[in-house]
Amino acid sequence: MQVIDTIDALRPEIRAFKREGKTVGFVPTMGALHEGHLSLFRLALQHCDELVVSIYVNPTQFGPNEDLDKYPRQMERDLQLCEKEGASVVFTPSDEVMYSDRRYLSIQIDELADHMCGASRDSHFEGVLLVVNKLFNIVDPDVAAFGQKDIQQYVLIERMVDEFNHSVKLLRGEIIRANDGLALSSRNAYLNDTERATAPGLYRALGYLKKQIEDGITNVKLMVEHQQDELEAKGFKIDYLGVYAYESLSPVTELSEGSQYIIAGAVYLGKTRLIDNMIIQL
Ligand code: AMP
Repeated sequence: MQVIDTIDALRPEIRAFKREGKTVGFVPTMGALHEGHLSLFRLALQHCDELVVSIYVNPTQFGPNEDLDKYPRQMERDLQLCEKEGASVVFTPSDEVMYSDRRYLSIQIDELADHMCGASRDSHFEGVLLVVNKLFNIVDPDVAAFGQKDIQQYVLIERMVDEFNHSVKLLRGEIIRANDGLALSSRNAYLNDTERATAPGLYRALGYLKKQIEDGITNVKLMVEHQQDELEAKGFKIDYLGVYAYESLSPVTELSEGSQYIIAGAVYLGKTRLIDNMIIQL
C-alpha cells in the first residue's frame, strides 16, 4: 500500500492502474476510521481492482463554530486499517495541497440543502460537494462508495455526478451500527458514558416512525411530534426529525404509494451532534 500526499504523485499511480486495465474504486473519508468506513472499503472492492482511500479532514465543510479543531485524528491507526482491508493507495493531502489561499469559484446548491442538515449547517454541503468534486477530478475513479449514514450528502453527490457529468458510478453502503443500534460515527468518541447509553434512542425513534408508516398510519405530523417529545424527555435536543421525500429532500406531511422517503433525524446529546436515517419505499 502506498501513502501519497500530493496530487502530482497520485496521478501517475492512477494512470498506471488504468494502463494495466484495472478499475479504480474510491472511498473518501475524514479518518478516525470505524467499521462503517471499512464496510465501504469492502463494498468498493467488490466493484473494482484497486482501492484508493482518501483521509482528509476537509475544512470547507466545517462551520466556524463546529468541531474542525477537535475532530479525531489518528493517522497511524487509520493507515494500518487501510492496509489490512486491502487498499492500494491512501491519499493524505494537506490543506495546502487541496486548496489555494484565494479561491474564486464555489459550488452553489439550490433547494436540496434547504432542509435536514443543510438547514442548520450553513455551507456544509457546498464544502462537501467542493471537496468531492475535486477528489473525483484528482482520483478519477470508476466507482466510489459513500454511506447512507449521510443520506443528504449521498443524494447531493448523486445530483452532482448527474448534473456535472462525472463518469464515476456511485455505490451506497448501508449504515453500520453498534449492537444497540447506534449508527457508528467518528463523533461518537465525544460521548460520555451516560450520553452513549442514551444515544440509541434516536435509532429507536426512527424505527418507531418506520413501523408506524409500514402499519399504514398516515398522520406524519402527529407521529413525528410524538417521537420528538419522547426524545426530548430522554435528554436529546432536537435539530430536526421528520419524513422527507428522497428526490427533493423536502419534508412531507402526506405519504403516497410508490414513493421513496427518508425518515431522518439530527439530535444533540450535550455538545455532540448525532444523525441517523432510514429509507422507506411505499
Ligand atoms: P466521514 O469520514 O465521516 O466523512 O465518512 C466517510 C464515509 O463513511 C461517508 O460516505 C459516510 O457516509 C460513511 N459512513 C460514516 N459512518 C458510517 C456508518 N456508520 N455506516 C456506513 N457508512 C458510514
